[in-house]
Amino acid sequence: MEWPNHKRLALMLSFDIDAETLWLTRNPINYHHPVHLSRGLYSVKQGIPRILRMLEAEGVHATFFTPAYTAELHPDVIRCIAGEGHEISYHGWLHESYPDYDRENALMEKAETIIEGITGKKPCGTRIPDGYVYDFHLQLWLDRGYIYSSNWRDNDGPFLHKIDGKTVPIVELPKDGIVDDTSYDMYTIQAPEHHYLRSGREMVGIWMDEFDGLAEEGRMMNFVMHPQFIGHPQYVRALREFIRYAKDNGAWIATDEDVARYYLSRNGFPEYGKSIDK
Ligand SMILES: [Zn+2]
Repeated sequence: MEWPNHKRLALMLSFDIDAETLWLTRNPINYHHPVHLSRGLYSVKQGIPRILRMLEAEGVHATFFTPAYTAELHPDVIRCIAGEGHEISYHGWLHESYPDYDRENALMEKAETIIEGITGKKPCGTRIPDGYVYDFHLQLWLDRGYIYSSNWRDNDGPFLHKIDGKTVPIVELPKDGIVDDTSYDMYTIQAPEHHYLRSGREMVGIWMDEFDGLAEEGRMMNFVMHPQFIGHPQYVRALREFIRYAKDNGAWIATDEDVARYYLSRNGFPEYGKSIDK
């Protein structure tokens, strides 16, 4: 794959702002436990401000997959993220998806309206909570004007989706558990139980090794980072080290939307492109 300005790899620093929804949707008991919910709240109170300061200092832009419920509860935070030039993308309302077209369509309409009301822009990409993508989803995304998905896990590079054998202008930007911070930094003894804990240095050490291999092949990395965990100081410092390493080693750091538009414009859909100035 050829990336802009002969860069070696496309790097998307994407975050999932699951915030309170991570706890509410995995364990209903949490509706009555403000202390459990406060773990989600850490993302908007501490993690995101710290991450935004670091991204600004490094001069890079990221994508934030945002449940619209989170946007409703914390509109100022979402407005601030968008105001700094980052992308807000689709991630359900209460971190959910439905198994039929009509209910999912209504859910997307509701979530898009909330996000557009805050940022002035409708999302154009989607990461379905917990990966529950159904057969109808590609057609629904096409009908709603989406240009990318970050759900599949079967490739190290972008590809175009097909519906009934016909290529459609929806780019897949795959993800993987290797670049999901919760594989390393999420520790909790109640549902959803997670007992992994590695230092930030170990985490980005794995990411640097992964980067080297993928850059050698000219591929991409699309992250899945949760500010309530990776927003702790040692992890943000480690992420900063990784970003500096990536910059020094030929990464094109861009939002999911920018990478999707770049890929579409060079693969049969030039009308979706826009100038890439990096
Ligand atoms: Zn999520």
